[in-house]
Parts: sequence; C-alpha cells; structure tokens
Amino acid sequence: MSGTTRIATQRLAADAAAIAKAARVLGAGGLVAFPTETVYGLGADATDPAAVARLFAAKARPKFNPLIAHVVDAAAAKRLGTFSTAAERLAAKFWPGALTLVVPARGDCAVCELARAGLATIALRVPAHAVAQELLAAVGKPVAAPSANRSGHVSPTTAEHVLADLSGAIDLVLDGGPTPLGLESTIVDCTGEPPRLLRLGGIARAEIERALGGPLADASSSATPAAPGMLASHYAPRTRLRLDVAEVRPGEALLTFGGARPKSAERAVRVLDLSAKGDLVQAAANLYAHLRALDAAGAEAIAIAPIPHEGLGEAINDRLKRAAAPRSREIPPPLGGG
Ligand code: AMP
Ligand code: MG
Repeated sequence: MSGTTRIATQRLAADAAAIAKAARVLGAGGLVAFPTETVYGLGADATDPAAVARLFAAKARPKFNPLIAHVVDAAAAKRLGTFSTAAERLAAKFWPGALTLVVPARGDCAVCELARAGLATIALRVPAHAVAQELLAAVGKPVAAPSANRSGHVSPTTAEHVLADLSGAIDLVLDGGPTPLGLESTIVDCTGEPPRLLRLGGIARAEIERALGGPLADASSSATPAAPGMLASHYAPRTRLRLDVAEVRPGEALLTFGGARPKSAERAVRVLDLSAKGDLVQAAANLYAHLRALDAAGAEAIAIAPIPHEGLGEAINDRLKRAAAPRSREIPPPLGGG
C-alpha cells in the first residue's frame, strides 16, 4: 500500500541548484523537507490534495489536522485569506518571521480542503529563513509544511533529525544546517477581536501585544470554539452520513472504497469510490471532493462502506466520524464563503 512504500530520500546541501530542484519536486507533487527559522518543515504543494495526502501519510498522522500554508510574502498571503486591521498590523510587523496568522479563508483560496481540514479559516506564515524564502519564491505556490517529524516525535532542528524520522518516506531534504530558533511559530487567531493566542512559539506574547496596542485573548478565554478539532467549525455535509454500512438503503448515495459493493449497492442514487484500487493515500486526497459531490446528489443519506483502519484510514475514519456526528451547534459556515 502506498504510504508505506519506501522511496530513496535525497539529502542536498541547500545551494541554488538544490533549491531549484526542490521547487521542481514540490511542483510535481513530491515531499521536500526544508529549514525555516523555527524548525524543519515538511513541505507539499498546498493546492494539491494528492500531495497533501502523501504528506499526512509520511508523517503517519492519525488525524487530518489543519496545516500552516507557507508563502513568500504578505501579498501572496492576502490572496489566500482576508486580513483584519489587526492581522495587517501583525503581518507588517512580524513577517517574514516566526508568526502564524489564522484568518478567514478567501472564497477562491487555492489551498485545498485537505490541507485546511475543511475549515473556513486558514493558517498562514511567511518564513524568514533564506532557504525557505528562495524555495517559496521558486515554487510560486503556497506550501503546506508541518514540522518534518513523524507524528508524536519532537520537531526536527537539523537535517539529521529529519532523516532519522522520515528517510524513505519523503523525496528530498534541503540541508541548511541547524535552524536558528528551534521553536515552533507563535500562532495568533485573527478571525475575532481581540486576536487570540493559539500557540506560544518563537515570538513572545508581549511583543505581539505591543504591536497590537492591547492584550491578546487566550485560547481558552473565549466563548467561540477555536480549537481546529471542533466539529462546528469544520466542513460537514448537510446530508446525513451512515458509517460502516453493510447494506445500502433506498434513496441513499454510496461512498465506497477499494471497489467494495455493499448489499443493494445497485439501488444507490450515486456511487463514488474513494480509491477503486484500494489506495488509502488516494482515498484521502479524494475525501472532501467526493463528500461534496455526494452531498449535492440530493440523497436521503450518504452510506459509507467500511474503510480499513490502517495507515491514512485512521485519519479518514476520524474525519468521517466527525462529519457523521449529530450537529449540536449551528450549521458550519460555508467554506471560505463559497
Ligand atoms: P504544525 O503541524 O506543528 O505546523 O502545527 C500547525 C498548527 O497550526 C497546529 O496547532 C494547528 O492546529 C494550527 N492550525 C493550522 N490551521 C489552523 C486554523 N485554520 N485554525 C486554527 N489553528 C490552525
Ligand atoms: Mg509538529
């Protein structure tokens, strides 16, 4: 199964030729680890769900949490998200740098839903590291880049750390030496007023508050749920989901995997297969698009065939379970406004 297939991982000193090569690999849907001023990031083309699915598989993440989209400058960031006055101020003061801003995603946001975990918001950063800057300029697209370690391991601050975790799972490591900060970026949620501190990192709270001219709210201190795992803030189909079905009921659409056909599948109003060849990485890449297509089919419910609980299947099942949970809160906001 792909995701466990081992590939030869190249390690290249981060000179101009290596950066140009890395940009080509990213552009072709590959995975490249690169240094930033915080830690090494594992990059994938954020606009390509297949590349992002590969990234999740390489990290062996049990959940599709939202990823930070890295861009070359604030102008590129503003093509992806809507900046409040406070967000503008923080971007002007701290970018490029170790600050990530969460803002509402624009309706035409090029970052795929898998990278955003179906959220209507997007996390954006403009890294300062020269290698990251040159790479992002050469790629010309947003790059999704969580820390370049296996899920649950510590963030890597050298190319050796990256290889210890991800050798055989990624295409290339750009070796730019040890990262200067060795701490993750500070994350500030600018979707509300006042902006909220979601994660402490390379930039201190006091510095941000000074730039804002007032205090930040704490992640826990607000009435609105901010944690990216909260169901109400994620895309969920309006049509009810039934999981692990053995039989399709009248009026249902069917989402299946690996060519499986549950009993009475022929009565389904529409059938989509996440991966006819049974590839869980391909299934992850198709998840959001297929859910949306079946949601639009006017079905009574969407019946979902069992998905193997291995590799990326665990994250797919986690996502489906959230989407199937009874909606206790208001209808989630439309994705990116449309
Ligand atoms: P890492 O994977 O180490 O780069 O961490 C990324 C962090 O950004 C995680 O804590 C995510 O939950 C957070 N994050 C990414 N996108 C969003 C978002 N739209 N809203 C809130 N937090 C986000
Ligand atoms: Mg991490």
